[in-house]
Amino acid sequence: MDETAGRLAALIDGARHLVAFTGAGVSTECGVPDFRSPGSPWLRYPPIGFQAFVSDAAQRVEAWRRKFAMDDLYAGARPGRVHHALRDLAQNGRLDTVITQNIDGLHQAAGLPVAKLVELHGNGTYARCLQCGQRHELDGIRARFDATGLAPECAACGGMVKSATVAFGQPLDPADVRAARDAACRCDLFLVLGSSLVVQPAASLPLLARAKGAALVIVNREPTRLDEEADLVVRGDVGEALQPWCAIR
Ligand code: NAD
Repeated sequence: MDETAGRLAALIDGARHLVAFTGAGVSTECGVPDFRSPGSPWLRYPPIGFQAFVSDAAQRVEAWRRKFAMDDLYAGARPGRVHHALRDLAQNGRLDTVITQNIDGLHQAAGLPVAKLVELHGNGTYARCLQCGQRHELDGIRARFDATGLAPECAACGGMVKSATVAFGQPLDPADVRAARDAACRCDLFLVLGSSLVVQPAASLPLLARAKGAALVIVNREPTRLDEEADLVVRGDVGEALQPWCAIR
């Protein structure tokens, strides 16, 4: 074991309140492309902001067309090593919370209890009515969309139905922000995994944890803007780095 891997092991194994903060980099080995790496398909289909979605029927149709095109790119994605390692740490009572920016649902697919997960940017594996909050499954929406070309409306109240993700310009759920901040404040180790730490306010959480006395570890294959604040930076593949905790020691 090299020195960096040894320090990572000492920090994770010594933590009493471990909080993991995951970004798109934990899902690239599962076949879900990240946002900012070269050739990103997310940038080929620029997202449609919340205001445009709610005010323009044509933009709603286009948003659903782009969403289904992106879904097709990673339809077969399964959880990877980080998802499994965090699930195993949780099962062994060694993980407080996972705060994720990801919308791919792979933490739940790995078996992480929902009570241990904060999805700051929502979840793209289902949809909700913007008016009454009713959950809608994507299969039915897609079948009707393919048949009619129309954006879905809620069967219960007639409201607009939108992917359960947080769009640009849409406020984050205050309860999720509170839960994430509380977790950052009570942890003794804040472990950033596969995030460029560019998107706010999510990217302010590592500094909050640090200010409250937690150790900060950043695992990413590229530099991030908070590397200088970290107690340990692991530069490399995040699945490789978390591999030892997949089958917990
Ligand atoms: P990002 O694309 O800005 O950053 C991902 C970082 O992970 C990059 O620095 C990249 O170099 C690194 N990376 C990629 N694969 C890696 C690997 N195997 N090992 C180590 N590092 C790796 O992603 P972000 O910081 O999460 O912000 C992106 C935004 O877009 C978020 O708001 C998120 O909601 C959304 N998004 C989500 C998904 C998803 O759900 N999987 C995918 C793309 C974008």
